Amino acid sequence: MVPAKDAFSFIQDADSEIYDILLREITREDQTLELIASENFVSYPVLQMAGGVMTNKYAEGYPGARYYGGCEHVDEAENLARDRAKKLFDCEYVNVQPHSGSQANMAALMTFLNTGDTIMGLDLAHGGHLSHGSPVNFSGKLYNVVSYQVDRNTGRVDFDSVRKSAVEHKPKLIICGGSAYPRFIEFENFRAIADEIGAFLMADIAHPSGLVAAGLHPSPMPYCDVVTTTTHKTLRGPRGGMIMLGKDFENKWGAVAPKTGRTKMISELIDSTVMPGIQGGPLMHIIAAKAIAFGEALQPEFKKYAQDIIDNAHTMSEALLEKDYQLVSGGTDTHVILIDLSNKGVSGKAAEKTLERAGITVNKNMVPFDKRSPFITSGIRLGTPAITTRGMGKGEMKKIVQFIDQILNDIENDTIVENVKLEVKSLCKFFPLYRELHD
Ligand SMILES: *Cc1c(COP(=O)(O)O)cnc(C)c1O
Repeated sequence: MVPAKDAFSFIQDADSEIYDILLREITREDQTLELIASENFVSYPVLQMAGGVMTNKYAEGYPGARYYGGCEHVDEAENLARDRAKKLFDCEYVNVQPHSGSQANMAALMTFLNTGDTIMGLDLAHGGHLSHGSPVNFSGKLYNVVSYQVDRNTGRVDFDSVRKSAVEHKPKLIICGGSAYPRFIEFENFRAIADEIGAFLMADIAHPSGLVAAGLHPSPMPYCDVVTTTTHKTLRGPRGGMIMLGKDFENKWGAVAPKTGRTKMISELIDSTVMPGIQGGPLMHIIAAKAIAFGEALQPEFKKYAQDIIDNAHTMSEALLEKDYQLVSGGTDTHVILIDLSNKGVSGKAAEKTLERAGITVNKNMVPFDKRSPFITSGIRLGTPAITTRGMGKGEMKKIVQFIDQILNDIENDTIVENVKLEVKSLCKFFPLYRELHD
């Protein structure tokens, strides 16, 4: 389906060049299967608010204490976003200003650490994230990084070696969570290790935060000193980040002691690290869109949505296992499936490229102990949030696995690619995106 002719005609009139690009992207999103685990489709109200008039407002500072006048309404929007986030995650404090997940992580790390301090995070090649200590990222440049890995057999975090390494290197902060970890994050195990060595524990729930909000993934709040997340993955909000504290606490360790002599609360330090520390004016249109998304996530229907995401991932995993695909950790607890294609004789790169030609969007991904480079990889990562948002269920999951399998079994066969592409297109027609935009 193509959007109604006049839905964006004002953009066409103003700038036909970008209009044509927009139309191609709308068509791509509508007519292909989005299996990238970190992506989703926001609701139409979130979409509209993210493109709304609040983009015009400068609001450096926080509600009630801004650097500029005219902030009374954006204050209301930010307060609403905060109140809803606190309710959603059952936390005492939240900062909704981080522009993205990486910014949230930067602010959290800079609040708790000094340059040169030691951190521990999941190895990027084992499912971690760039901002957890990769040498090409600020986190790897500012801090001394010790990475932990998953166990070769189970594909799950190897807590014996985490503990051993933590005792040896005494990190000041441990990060749990990742981008390609199909299982629940084991907050309790990490807490025990952090307590043993007196480290801070930070959870990055960028991926499963929607599942956490729905109560279908354990909550980090009782175990972690600080929690960061994106808002645009399973949480299905606008592209952005946030930082939460299950319980606020005093900054007692002195490394970032305040000039005033008064012991500050961690929440105050996080606020000032976000702004003016690393960001300027907040994206008020995005914060208002976050408020809408949090409101949606508080509805009972969101819990059903999150359950559908997980059910769909289970259906897909089982169908893949039946066809002899090797899944890292043997399956999934979440929306993420990580396939090791080594036994199929196909690289992650080749799989990504060929599936894309058939209208199936996935990303190549390192698997633990991968022998190939990050640019080639032995695996692909799949995720169910976006196709679940479109309303697809069990039958469609099985069909999608068949499509993937047909292509990967005969990767040079262009006829198969063309046939699957047609089938993908007709499947997508039954689950249109943004009905509001159609004739
Ligand atoms: C996606 C992700 C992020 C970063 O999000 P951006 O918004 O792209 O900066 C951070 N941490 C984890 C674990 C992620 O998966």
